[in-house]
Amino acid sequence: MAVTRWLRRHSFCLSRRKRSLLLKLTVVALASFLFCEFLIYYLVIFWCRWPEVGTPAPGKRGPVLKAMFLADTHLLGEITGHWLDKLRREWQMERAFQTALWLLQPEVVFILGDVFDEGKWSSSKAWEEEMARFRQMFRHPGHVQLKVVAGNHDIGFHYEMSPYKVRRFEEVFSSDRLFSWKGVNFVMVNSVALEGDGCGICSEVEAELTEVSRRLNCSREQVPGSGQCAGGQQLPASAPILLQHYPLYRASDANCSGEDAAPPEERNIPFQEKYDVLSREASQKLLWWFRPRLILSGHTHSACEVLHRGGVPEISVPSFSWRNRNNPSFIMGSFTPRDHALSKCFLPLEGTVLSTYCAAAGLLVVLTFARLECLTSPFLSVWTLLRMHMAR
Ligand SMILES: [Zn+2]
Repeated sequence: MAVTRWLRRHSFCLSRRKRSLLLKLTVVALASFLFCEFLIYYLVIFWCRWPEVGTPAPGKRGPVLKAMFLADTHLLGEITGHWLDKLRREWQMERAFQTALWLLQPEVVFILGDVFDEGKWSSSKAWEEEMARFRQMFRHPGHVQLKVVAGNHDIGFHYEMSPYKVRRFEEVFSSDRLFSWKGVNFVMVNSVALEGDGCGICSEVEAELTEVSRRLNCSREQVPGSGQCAGGQQLPASAPILLQHYPLYRASDANCSGEDAAPPEERNIPFQEKYDVLSREASQKLLWWFRPRLILSGHTHSACEVLHRGGVPEISVPSFSWRNRNNPSFIMGSFTPRDHALSKCFLPLEGTVLSTYCAAAGLLVVLTFARLECLTSPFLSVWTLLRMHMAR
């Protein structure tokens, strides 16, 4: 009788302990998932701040345009992309982008090319699927503008580029070369077409760029009614910001520094013109046509700051995808017609996410083993009790 009572009491305790263990395991697993997949983006991006533009005289501060720049998202395609890699990277970028939109409230977002990894090969069906995923990831409210410049992975390198691929890209992302807002001019360059060999697409792009350059120069020289500058809509009299995928010519990344610059072993590898960077000739043309105050580019996946002829700064924006780096980032820019200031916003380190998951897995194992020891001890006690009873 005593044994039955004891067994009943212990079986009740046992199921209570099992339930408690299960509850603890669920809480740890859920908490680590919520932290790594949602909270960490808020915790990290929360600390990013819009940079202050200059110090204008009191009462003279005009409107400031807040722009976000990211590059090389490389949404994976159906040919080389593994579904798990695709799922993981796209989820990370979607969370980072949506959190940044919510916390930082930019007015315009620029993506500096290579939005897709396989845009250069995609069939029309695959392109539609990739576009649907892009729209889902980079969804944004109507008051936020999203502008995209073409990269070599979107329309192909010069030798792979075709009017069909360019048209397909521009039908979705617009073919406008100029974007003016709050007195600030942005020129969006199709840098893949600056090969300089007179190909059909190259000639068209060059003609469009020279026309934009003429209009910008007219607005800056304040002679709108005379000669070449007669007619047409007047643009803000402000030096433009060039946005493009390929960087202007530089010999290598040897002079680049910072935590997200190219790794030391890669920095001295010479860049190939028209492949890694624009040709010297195309770079000089852009500087001469536009006399920009700032250039932002992508393609290298690493950060760099370069000072070109005439003191024009160029910022290489690192890749936004964790597939390309452990510490992706984006640039935040505050712009007025005469001034600008930039800052960088780093996204969560992939290493932190992996460490958190490993720590959580370790904790789950410890909890399970600790409980298993407790769960097995009542069985041992029952066995001892039975042996004592039989011996009597
Ligand atoms: Zn590229």
